[in-house]
Amino acid sequence: MNTDPNLESPSFDQCQAMVRPKHGPFILGPKPRHEQCRNKPVWIATEIIAGTDGKQGSMSLCQECADAMMKIEDLKTRVMLTPIRSPQV
Ligand SMILES: [Zn+2]
Repeated sequence: MNTDPNLESPSFDQCQAMVRPKHGPFILGPKPRHEQCRNKPVWIATEIIAGTDGKQGSMSLCQECADAMMKIEDLKTRVMLTPIRSPQV
């Protein structure tokens, strides 16, 4: 599989945040690996101001990851959260 998260549109099935593995900050492997969060998303986060990478993107986030994102001052000022309204409800 060749998946570039930057090329995907927001997913409504799975939170798209990459979370650090649970086994602590010391990684003995070749490189730190982030895993995709498996929660159901409830927000779409859209970058309204491009970051240092120059990209403006959007991604789906679960409540937990949205809370974590809003604790990061840099992201808080650049990202707008829009609630996902499920069409089934
Ligand atoms: Zn999440």
